[in-house]
Amino acid sequence: MKGIKISSHKNLSENTFTIYNKPKYIYIPLIVGTDTDLTVLVKKDDYVCKGEMVARSKGKFSIPLHASVSGTVIGFEDKLYHNGTMIKSIVIENDFKERIEEKQNNVNTISSYSKEEFLETLKNAGILGMGGAGFPTYIKYETNGPIKTLVINAVECEPYITADDSLGVQKAGEILETIDAILEIFHIEKAIIAVKKNHKKLIHAFQKNIGTYVKIELKMVPDRYPMGWERLLVETVTGKTYQNLPIEVGVVVNNVSTIYAIYEALKYHKPLIERIVTITGDMIKHPTNVLVKVGTSIHEVIEFIGGMKRNKDIICIAGGPMMGVTLPNDEVIVTADMNALVVLKQQEEEIEHTCMRCGKCVQVCPAQIEPVLIKDAYQEKEALKTLNVNRCCECGLCSYICPAKIKVREYVRKAKETLRKDDPNERLS
Ligand code: SF4
Ligand code: SF4
Repeated sequence: MKGIKISSHKNLSENTFTIYNKPKYIYIPLIVGTDTDLTVLVKKDDYVCKGEMVARSKGKFSIPLHASVSGTVIGFEDKLYHNGTMIKSIVIENDFKERIEEKQNNVNTISSYSKEEFLETLKNAGILGMGGAGFPTYIKYETNGPIKTLVINAVECEPYITADDSLGVQKAGEILETIDAILEIFHIEKAIIAVKKNHKKLIHAFQKNIGTYVKIELKMVPDRYPMGWERLLVETVTGKTYQNLPIEVGVVVNNVSTIYAIYEALKYHKPLIERIVTITGDMIKHPTNVLVKVGTSIHEVIEFIGGMKRNKDIICIAGGPMMGVTLPNDEVIVTADMNALVVLKQQEEEIEHTCMRCGKCVQVCPAQIEPVLIKDAYQEKEALKTLNVNRCCECGLCSYICPAKIKVREYVRKAKETLRKDDPNERLS
């Protein structure tokens, strides 16, 4: 069986929920995925409504960014983004009037959309993969081939994070209604909601509401990491394997929070301007799932839920400890694809020893590649070409398991960069 059992630490924030919706300022980082070449649609002193488009990416997969409050654009500032870099951001001063654009008052029947209307609505609402992928969702449905199975990823396998779990328990009815509508709009045969077998409350919430949805199946998957990785999940719940993308075998995968964002877009024309973020870790006084406006500073949210136990000798990680990015501080801005901030006690730097060729990293690798060989050849482009480096999902298991404390995953990341050098079209998984 692929993946391994690791400590979840989810008990810290499980079954918690609060709302923080009064930030004085909102910061909209001008970035979509890795694309920072955006068209900015507002200027200093402009008044914006909540939900109004303020910027748009220009590329092939164009996606807009929206104001999450009503108020005045007071300028631009560099703010910390969850990938650890400073990104130019639009600053909006909140007038707390929550003024919205007229079209958001309409309530629509979500199953009555045509395919074209569905795609257009998702595109305009800026719906992205909310599990951390940040990939525009409409593209997954913009396919010529038939979609046979819709897989809903409610696994949330990364330790500490309980944001999807919190949303799913509260909104199971709306999520099921949306899945059913998507099945109808795209004539999809069935949907599978994948949940970890020990997420009892979430399973119960879906079971309570699933009654009349005969095409939707709830599947319990083993509590192993990285079960939420798209490739492993599709294989586990459908038995199908693919080369590059799940659509090759007629499968579309959406994260459960993304499905709820689709619900709000279809039902109310509401863009993606809020999300649940898990603020947790042993250095947070009261770990909590918090519904926040996109653009809120996490530092403010931490203060709101009671602060940190201490503010030095800590480590802040955007996302979980396995796949996340270590940040210099907690002043990171919430974006639609950021699901958690984990604050932990700083540990002493572990000393790397010499590789003992034990092969453990190869045994645990869910991508079935050879991390130790990639590590050895991380600067040698020709050698790397035969090692399927881009199958790596950056799950971190090779580093986690390594008895020599070698940061194997970091070498694999560097190997990806080596492959990308002089070859910008090199496909990264
Ligand atoms: S090589 Fe990549 S996929 Fe394999 S264990 Fe390491 S991080 Fe995970
Ligand atoms: S797990 Fe560590 S020590 Fe063992 S082969 Fe892999 S890199 Fe070497």
